[in-house]
Amino acid sequence: MKMSEPQPGFQPETQEELVRFIAENVSSGRRHLHPIGGGTALPTCEAESIPVQLNKLNRVIDFPARDMTITVEAGIRIGELNRILAAENQRLPIDVPQAEQATLGGIIATNWSGSRRFGCGTMRDYVIGISAIDASGQRFSAGGRVVKNVAGYDLCKLLIGSRGTLAIISQVTLKLRPQAETSALVTLTFDSLSQVDAVLNRLLTSATRPMVLDILSTTRPPQLIVGFEGTSREMNWQIETLVEECRPFEPRTTESLVGTAAETLWKRLRDFSIDSKSSVTVKASLPPSRTCKILNLAIESGIAVQAHAGNGIVIGHLSERVSTAEQANSAIKPLSELVRSCDGHLSVLCAPNGWNALNAVADSWAGSLAWTQRLKRQLDPHNLLNPGVMAFGPA
Ligand SMILES: Cc1cc2nc3c(=O)[nH]c(=O)nc-3n(C[C@H](O)[C@H](O)[C@H](O)COP(=O)(O)OP(=O)(O)OC[C@H]3O[C@@H](n4cnc5c(N)ncnc54)[C@H](O)[C@@H]3O)c2cc1C
Repeated sequence: MKMSEPQPGFQPETQEELVRFIAENVSSGRRHLHPIGGGTALPTCEAESIPVQLNKLNRVIDFPARDMTITVEAGIRIGELNRILAAENQRLPIDVPQAEQATLGGIIATNWSGSRRFGCGTMRDYVIGISAIDASGQRFSAGGRVVKNVAGYDLCKLLIGSRGTLAIISQVTLKLRPQAETSALVTLTFDSLSQVDAVLNRLLTSATRPMVLDILSTTRPPQLIVGFEGTSREMNWQIETLVEECRPFEPRTTESLVGTAAETLWKRLRDFSIDSKSSVTVKASLPPSRTCKILNLAIESGIAVQAHAGNGIVIGHLSERVSTAEQANSAIKPLSELVRSCDGHLSVLCAPNGWNALNAVADSWAGSLAWTQRLKRQLDPHNLLNPGVMAFGPA
């Protein structure tokens, strides 16, 4: 996976400095700006842009732990934020790869989420307040510091997934969750994906409360991975009940990992999207009931996949043998057509610079572009922020 070192640019020490810089930029020179958090997921900008490094905006503004909310600056590293929250036995339950590098602003701007989204939701469920600066240097805030006061709540949601194209996020208030006493991952393998599909259907009415419903195709046969969180007693009951509910589907193997024993597999699930020598990674979102249909084609095409099957999210690494844009094109095309026929969306998460043509094949959500372009013209009329970057892809 490509890793971009921070380039020279503007690195504000305070939010006021950032406001001044953007306001001066729009009144003189109107240079393009490229907001950068940890640089773990940087898109290629269309035009020469000034990198705006945000990782020095990393202060904790307010942490009334008893209210289970925290207000921090958006440049805080996820690893640092997790440590601060853990000290109060709290957490932001979003799985982020390279957490020591990635920032809060970055995961909000990309609306990143991982395996736990099935049980814990996405950033849209945790951001209750936001401050940002638009391309004219105007600072605006939405939402609030307490869970109840959510005036202007939709503006928060608007910036989630906007990939730095609408405004630069400077400060965020999050609602938090308590740390789970323990967690468990149960791995089941079946002879066919149709069996996996039948089990997924059965689990819709399961007596258990899975946090994770993932499928990994890096092994043969593919693995169905069901994750739980809670007290040890709850873990044992959930695992026993799940195994009972799956018995009629004759799993070939069943393995339960509890507590620290599950850490390696949690890490594999968290880092799948970046853990590959493949040059191209795609992400699709589609109705969950169609997940196995996409997996079938992906596996046949030699694409290694992780599916958050409970949410219809599929992340795929093209075969490492794919070495040209043309090869990638022909590998993605049938998948994109199938995703489209399932009313889904597919986009390129990562590809070598210059392989932009892939976006044309991948993006099956062109129809929704109209409103994003209207929004962009309203909030950034001179197209200064991350020019050419596609916002709101499959999330
Ligand atoms: C398309 C895509 C590719 C990914 N590729 C990788 C990968 O290769 N490796 C990996 O570890 N993880 C990857 N991820 C997951 C990544 O970990 C998360 O998205 C992560 O949260 C990015 O955080 P960051 O601070 O590193 O963001 P950055 O990489 O710095 O920025 C990501 C995007 O968010 C914008 N942005 C960042 N901060 C702000 C802000 N404060 N205000 C407004 N916009 C902002 C940037 O302009 C950019 O468009 C990818 C995610 C996506 C959606």
